[in-house]
Amino acid sequence: MKKKGVNRRDFLRLSATVGAGALFIPGTTASTLDKSNFTKSKYPLRTLGKTGIQLPILSMGVMRADNPNLLRAAYNSGIFHFDTAHGYQNGRNEEMVGTFFEGKPRDSFFIATKVKIDHPFKDNFEQELNEKLDLSLKRLKMEYVDIFYAHAYQTTDEVKDERMIAELKKIKESGKARFIGFSTHAHKPEQIDAAIEAGIYDVILLSYNFKLQNLKETQEAVERAAKAGIGIVAMKTMTGGTEDAEGKKKINAQACLKWAWENEYITTAIPGFTNYDELDECLAAAEHPDMTKEDKEYIAMLTEKELMFCQQCEQCKSQCTENLPIPDIMRAYMYTYGYKYSQLSKETLLELNLSQNACSSCDSCRVICPSGFNIAEKIAAITPVMQIPNEFLT
Ligand code: SF4
Ligand code: SF4
Repeated sequence: MKKKGVNRRDFLRLSATVGAGALFIPGTTASTLDKSNFTKSKYPLRTLGKTGIQLPILSMGVMRADNPNLLRAAYNSGIFHFDTAHGYQNGRNEEMVGTFFEGKPRDSFFIATKVKIDHPFKDNFEQELNEKLDLSLKRLKMEYVDIFYAHAYQTTDEVKDERMIAELKKIKESGKARFIGFSTHAHKPEQIDAAIEAGIYDVILLSYNFKLQNLKETQEAVERAAKAGIGIVAMKTMTGGTEDAEGKKKINAQACLKWAWENEYITTAIPGFTNYDELDECLAAAEHPDMTKEDKEYIAMLTEKELMFCQQCEQCKSQCTENLPIPDIMRAYMYTYGYKYSQLSKETLLELNLSQNACSSCDSCRVICPSGFNIAEKIAAITPVMQIPNEFLT
């Protein structure tokens, strides 16, 4: 009988169950990390702006992961940079990351977390920001994070806000964060230029994919930022995770990642894989990051489709008779129907203080979305998630 060999996938499964120190993939893993930096990888490395830190082009967005063994498999595969946030899974995400990395050499991983503070900032904004950061560090069981992001800036004003700038500087000086940055879902190149002008941001975490309506302007701003020494981290590279607006057909993750990496100014991407198959897909892409002819044809085909990715262009807002925060609701829709992460949809919608029957005052919806979304239909499909007990949500 022919003996079956252990392939890379089996190896990852195995290493995920027996512990980080027990098994390593030669030449690619945490065991080979340089003491002062991460400089060895079979995946291409790029420099995170003026921080000088070299990161593999593939990182892990931990947001939806709830299995520490998946984290272990990613770490053992040579992923170095892990991205979480104060709000993910009500803090459990940071706790899982903290428990997993406890006791591991601090220079064998690179951690980013984020804290969201609503804008305009309240009088006690500084206290709130620092208390949340301290709680994040406690959950992470770390004295510092490598990147601390102000989470989800919506406007350009936030990028330039003097109180925020002063506070971020203090956080960096205190040693609680090595580098500071902001994340944004707003798809506004002017935010990137404002960051260059502000001169304090080391990193920007932004949505980057082929569906961006203002792709050219975004790419030009990204290039300016990179040349000014700002590291660029890409999220939402998979446009919501499905090939269709209804969330039925999974997207080709490899083609999407490779497309993002074609831009040399993108340092790394943080796909939010949630199982071993998705991790394998991402690793395979990072091993062979050049786009094939088929990848290019696939991306061209997808570019013409509606998909689930809301441009956050805000053209709908002024058309809505109830002034609903439609771009945020569309993001919540994508979390459930694209990412299959309904808990995050619920959290997002509850933060918006939406009523359960948000559209009940309209007989018909007159909002015209340039992406072709049937807004009222999507709102009706997602708002019921607010009523569902957490234990029944994915
Ligand atoms: S108009 Fe459409 S694409 Fe633009 S923010 Fe509104 S829902 Fe999103
Ligand atoms: S149906 Fe809903 S989205 Fe459309 S205009 Fe009315 S409240 Fe706004």
